[in-house]
Parts: sequence; C-alpha cells; structure tokens
Amino acid sequence: MDRLNDGHALQRLLDELGRLPGIGPKSAQRIAYYLLEADVEEARRLATAILEVKEQVHFCPICFSYATRDTCDVCSDASRDRTTICVVSEPRDVSAIERTGSYHGLYHVLGGVISPMDKIGPEQLHVKELLSRLASGEVQEVILATNPDVEGETTATYLSRIIRPLGVRVSRLASGLPVGGDLEYADEVTLGRAIEARREV
Ligand SMILES: [Zn+2]
Repeated sequence: MDRLNDGHALQRLLDELGRLPGIGPKSAQRIAYYLLEADVEEARRLATAILEVKEQVHFCPICFSYATRDTCDVCSDASRDRTTICVVSEPRDVSAIERTGSYHGLYHVLGGVISPMDKIGPEQLHVKELLSRLASGEVQEVILATNPDVEGETTATYLSRIIRPLGVRVSRLASGLPVGGDLEYADEVTLGRAIEARREV
C-alpha cells in the first residue's frame, strides 16, 4: 500500500501500530483495517484500555512489579509468605511465576540484568532496595529466578555473593528450564517444578 498523506488519520494509525513490538507493516495494516470496520464502541474500549494502563499502572514502591494501588497485589496480600523473596528481572516474570501457582512468597523485580556490554551494572538495577528489604531480618530465603542465559547467570552469581554473607539462604531455580530461554516462555509445569526443586547456591 502506498503511504498516505502524513495528516491522514489512517496513516497516523498505521505509523503508531507499526511502532509496536512484533508488529510489521502487514500486521499494522490488518489491525488498522480491522479497527476501521469495527464499531466505534470496540475502538473506544481499546483506546480507553491503553490510556488507563498508562494512567493507572505504576511500579510498586516495594518490589518494583506493576501496581494499580499503592502497592502491588502480592505485596499487599497478607496471606503471602513474607520469609521468601523471589528475585526476577522484569515484571512479566512475576506473572509467569504467579501462573504456576507453585509460589506463595514475595517478589523483587530488578528492572533488568547485569550486562557489561550494555553498561548495566548492579547500580542501574534495584539491588540496593533488595538489600534494604533483607535488612529487616524477616526474609530467610532469596530465590534467584533470573533467566538461564549468560546475563541472568551473571546477575544470579553476583547477587548470591552479596546476599549469602547476610545469613540469608540463597537458591536458584532448578535446571530443566531451556538454557538461553526466557522465563516468561517456559510452560507453567516446567517453571513450577523449577521453583519447587530449587537448589541452594
Ligand atoms: Zn510489590
């Protein structure tokens, strides 16, 4: 399809959709034409959902996962086991682990992984905040659930070195997860088993 005039509403929609991850020009066209045909209420629901997620979702000040209230659903749930913290790199990893139903402790989202190539060190991640959560003495175990790839392993090794001297048990997800794979793509059964069979490091 030829490019429409830049001021054309359809072209603006195509450009915006094309910026989304995983959406090429073909998919952008499919979605744009779908929305053109859809009734206005459906389009409004989508537009509202996008705006609401931007207005209402923020980072939990305790664990840095996504929250819609002051703190996230996990941090504000009194029935969660407060002696265990599972450390992940991204908020989407929290959802992946929650879906397994195998874990009932708390989380801490680092906001990335140590990656010297991208100039990301511990000071760019929420490591300081993790250490201050451990300072209360309530936490007895930290499960390192970063991805089983080079950066994830580097991050886990770094964290276990600084956490173990605090007298907190440190464990890593059991093997069985595809090496180099992403936690969020592991199926629930595999991920659930990896949590249950975690090994102390
Ligand atoms: Zn939280």
